[in-house]
Amino acid sequence: MNTKFIPLSVPNFEGNERKYVDDAVVTTWVSTGGGYVTSFENAVAEYVKMPMAVATASGTSSLHLALIVSGVKENEEVIVPALTFIAAVNPVKYLHAEPVFVDCDDYLCMNPESVRDFLENHCEKRDGATYNKKTGRKVSAMMTVHVFGNICDMEKLMDLAKEYNLVVIEDATEALGSIVKEGRYAGKYAGTIGDIGCYSFNGNKIITTGGGGMLVSNHNDWAKHAKHLSTQAKSDELRFYHDEIGYNYRMTNLQAALGVAQMECLDKFIEIKERNYNYYVENIHGKNGLEILPFREDISSNRWFYSVLLKDNNMTTDQVIQGMSDDKIQTRPIWALISDLEPYKDCQRMDLSKAQYYVKRVVNIPCSTSLSLDDAKVVADRLLEITK
Ligand SMILES: *Cc1c(COP(=O)(O)O)cnc(C)c1O
Repeated sequence: MNTKFIPLSVPNFEGNERKYVDDAVVTTWVSTGGGYVTSFENAVAEYVKMPMAVATASGTSSLHLALIVSGVKENEEVIVPALTFIAAVNPVKYLHAEPVFVDCDDYLCMNPESVRDFLENHCEKRDGATYNKKTGRKVSAMMTVHVFGNICDMEKLMDLAKEYNLVVIEDATEALGSIVKEGRYAGKYAGTIGDIGCYSFNGNKIITTGGGGMLVSNHNDWAKHAKHLSTQAKSDELRFYHDEIGYNYRMTNLQAALGVAQMECLDKFIEIKERNYNYYVENIHGKNGLEILPFREDISSNRWFYSVLLKDNNMTTDQVIQGMSDDKIQTRPIWALISDLEPYKDCQRMDLSKAQYYVKRVVNIPCSTSLSLDDAKVVADRLLEITK
């Protein structure tokens, strides 16, 4: 019997977190001014090799800003994955635009064939733009989500975006540190391939600021516009002139102090994630009809979340989750399909058979960077015991 609770994914503060947060408190720079915000922006920008990065209040707010500065308008359509966290889709609705749901591939990422199906069979090109034949609406963007630290098949998705003149927004909230190794985008980090990319520093992500986000763009003016919008679109500090409708989407210095310390640990965290992933693969994959889903071969993934596929095993995800929980080990099913949820049930969707399959067969197992190999052994042993 396991005696210690093993959580799914919790923060790891073994670096300079307390030192920097204490400094922010002692100097009273706890709000949106102060040096840590700039340092954190610079650290992320440098890491992902971009000229600038814009810190925000959350991943969701950076996705909202990304859609606005991309020029997505009311009554336009955005291609989104059905299998992802809802924060990748809700901002489309904040703009009164409409999502169109597509399927995933075998890496749980947006399936280029599903996107192609929609564009080729349900859309028409007119005057350099793409229109949905059924709704008549302009299709203006695609939201590529790099699920669990994988990277989408960006070569195919970028080709489609070019052919149909769509903006590419990368939801890289789960993939900070994942990098393409081969092919056209070799050397590029998740979030830096399309037009604009977003990261999240929520408590369960690979690094955390408690809550927070970041945005990078291959169009410098878009990044600058996002920064402007995030600070209430204030154009004159002294007189409070605001030249458009902005948002209070800034990160605080207190959060950024955590972020600077966490960035110092990112490479170490990725190493630990890789070590534990390899342990799980060696000890679980291929046993009892279970598989550990792979990360794409042509990338080096941050391996943020690990997915056990109940491939040739008759247990349900609920049974597995309960069996693990009975031994104090926290696991979880993947997200319900967004296209099935109340606010989205009437939206257009392509064939979603892969997403429907994986949603019923995948369980995420503990992946914290504080997870020791001994803990990983407890997890693997228990999983094999209950799935026998
Ligand atoms: C975490 C996450 C977000 C949102 O980030 P928050 O910082 O929680 O707002 C968006 N998309 C995906 C896929 C996520 O996993």
